[in-house]
Amino acid sequence: MSNETFLGLDFGGTKLLIGEIDSEGSVLRTKKYHSGYMEQDQALNFITQSLDDYFENEKPKPAAMGLGVVGRVDNKQGIWFEMDGLRKGELPIAGMLSRRYGIPCFIDNDVRSAARAELRFGYGKRSQHFIYINVGTGIAAGTVSDGQILTGGHCNAGEVGHTHSGINAGIDCICGRKDCVEMLASGKGLDFCARLYAPRFPDTALKIPNDEKVSVLDIFTMADTDELCKFLVNQAAETLANLLMNMVRVSDPDTIVLGGGVVSDGILLPKIKEKLNSHTMRYVTNGVVLTELKAEHIGLIGACTVAMNL
Ligand SMILES: [Zn+2]
Repeated sequence: MSNETFLGLDFGGTKLLIGEIDSEGSVLRTKKYHSGYMEQDQALNFITQSLDDYFENEKPKPAAMGLGVVGRVDNKQGIWFEMDGLRKGELPIAGMLSRRYGIPCFIDNDVRSAARAELRFGYGKRSQHFIYINVGTGIAAGTVSDGQILTGGHCNAGEVGHTHSGINAGIDCICGRKDCVEMLASGKGLDFCARLYAPRFPDTALKIPNDEKVSVLDIFTMADTDELCKFLVNQAAETLANLLMNMVRVSDPDTIVLGGGVVSDGILLPKIKEKLNSHTMRYVTNGVVLTELKAEHIGLIGACTVAMNL
């Protein structure tokens, strides 16, 4: 086994986790840095300041570093195009960081990075045809076919949160379409739907705070006793089941791996499975599973795997 280590930066938009893994994928060291909502150029400053701090006690240097970030990224050119629809730039960040720190640097989108982690250290050991779906604040997927991650012509593959949920609720999405998966089944979507549907369920005990997000855990744990929560969970499960089945028809995976904060506690998974059509799912022989990589580290391991430049 090599003594080389690989540095990863998992940047989720409001916080940054920096850490290292060895060539077997074991996490050796991590350090978390909190930012807030920021523009892309501010994000660059925040990343370099955090790296300066991290490297202060760092000897010897890792073999390479990888950056997993929100938004649209060109992995081959090392360019970060945008954080989201509002925060755009064309930042050649991999080259900038590589020159500044004197080690090779690579970048990819955060969900594709997690799919890389899954490919190298998770279900990829058993499957070369799988889909990794992240259900967190938003929803996106990494599709692996023949051991290769689908990127697309504009580095925009996998934005499956903006496909139709199969439910006609009449909810407008920021992308311009109606009833997108993300509006009904993500953390952001569950918060939105809780507020939208609460007036229909005046007896609900679900807390709907004005100054923070509705707790997804509350929605799940109250689903057996509270009619609003039952409705929200049922709608989210049906949305995700529809998404999974549509994706199965596109890339013919043998495994679907779920990760992200909305599914990681496992409460939603059986409810999704109840709604899957056995004929549609007949070739998904390994089933629908939760990632075995630790939820708090999958983004970091993904970024480190980007550093391995697979
Ligand atoms: Zn949309």
